[in-house]
Amino acid sequence: MSSVLVIGAGLAGCVAAARLSEAGTRVVMVEKTPDIGGKVRGYGCKATDKCNNCGLCLACGLWNNIRKNRLVEVITSAEVVDLLGEAGEYTAVVRTSGGLRRIGDISSVIVSAGFDASNAGKSAHLHIEKTKGVLLGSEMEALIRGRSKKGIFPERPGSVAFIQCFGSRDAKERSFYCSRVCCAYSTRAARVIKQHYPACEITFFYMELQSAANSDIFEELTKIGVRFVKCRPVRITGERPVAVEYDDLAKGMTRENFDMVILSEGIRPSWDNSWMSAAYGLEQDEFGFLHKTEGCENGVYAAGCARRPLTIEETCADAETAADAILTRWAEPRGLTA
Ligand SMILES: Cc1cc2nc3c(=O)[nH]c(=O)nc-3n(C[C@H](O)[C@H](O)[C@H](O)COP(=O)(O)OP(=O)(O)OC[C@H]3O[C@@H](n4cnc5c(N)ncnc54)[C@H](O)[C@@H]3O)c2cc1C
Ligand code: SF4
Ligand code: SF4
Repeated sequence: MSSVLVIGAGLAGCVAAARLSEAGTRVVMVEKTPDIGGKVRGYGCKATDKCNNCGLCLACGLWNNIRKNRLVEVITSAEVVDLLGEAGEYTAVVRTSGGLRRIGDISSVIVSAGFDASNAGKSAHLHIEKTKGVLLGSEMEALIRGRSKKGIFPERPGSVAFIQCFGSRDAKERSFYCSRVCCAYSTRAARVIKQHYPACEITFFYMELQSAANSDIFEELTKIGVRFVKCRPVRITGERPVAVEYDDLAKGMTRENFDMVILSEGIRPSWDNSWMSAAYGLEQDEFGFLHKTEGCENGVYAAGCARRPLTIEETCADAETAADAILTRWAEPRGLTA
């Protein structure tokens, strides 16, 4: 009985696996870390007095369902090192903690290996002297996830700066594109911070605001005292206070102190994409994201943020589209009891 191989058990991989198994198709999912779920497992609910529609609820129950699903075999702490054969009858060579394993009878493949996290110490345009008091968006997500009535941070912050487009919109970083998700998650996070610390002064340093979907959020934030400064900061120095230096059009070079600086990191193509593109016959775009080849004759599809920056909702839809394409063309549906 043939299976679909899913590479990467993040949100995209798990949604695709769930969709395929619903149609009675067997799935083998290979994940390089010890657990499934990818980045979103580390994010927190960004509700304040109301749900702020961050999208995380879309993954509710998904991880347990995958773990219990008899048609989905999950191999964690493992990587596909070779894909042999041809469309309809591939064999994957998988390196597991117990050694190499060959998995045959694979009809088709979904590459859902996601994106790379940013590095707070590394930016082509922003010089960061010290990283104490400087958090990445993903670190702030983890703190929001762990928040309690006592608060989000170990110490009450008097002022917080968000720096938008960190690692995005940057030709030097080979990321001259908008990551699309960071304005939304950071402005929701600002509302959560304001809820816990109403007196905290919050400033957004931005070049562009991804406003199409979020215009209400920015208006709402301005009303609760959040300040927006249009510029691209050049230097971050010191630690609590952390100084942000930027070129103010009216005042020239300006320096402001904050208790904490949050870098709104974006979605960067995985470094693995270059070898995966060669190994699995997928095209890479100018930034390094993966694309399926026209017509997908080789039965290898890409899904989720391996393809381009996507929100949680968009990732779910993209993964379902890839699964549906496979179900239409390649997969061998079986009854759930098979
Ligand atoms: C800081 C931050 C906050 C965000 N907050 C929100 C939000 O609030 N709302 C929202 O809608 N979106 C948010 N997003 C976007 C969200 O993270 C993505 O939509 C989502 O994670 C995409 O899921 P994915 O499965 O494509 O990728 P990933 O989450 O990156 O999952 C990929 C999986 O593949 C595995 N993998 C990688 N390489 C290999 C390999 N070679 N072999 C096997 N496995 C491999 C990884 O370990 C991982 O488990 C945020 C993004 C960032 C950066
Ligand atoms: S996780 Fe996100 S979508 Fe779900 S309740 Fe919280 S804010 Fe709303
Ligand atoms: S979503 Fe916002 S912060 Fe992220 S790259 Fe686009 S404009 Fe910049």
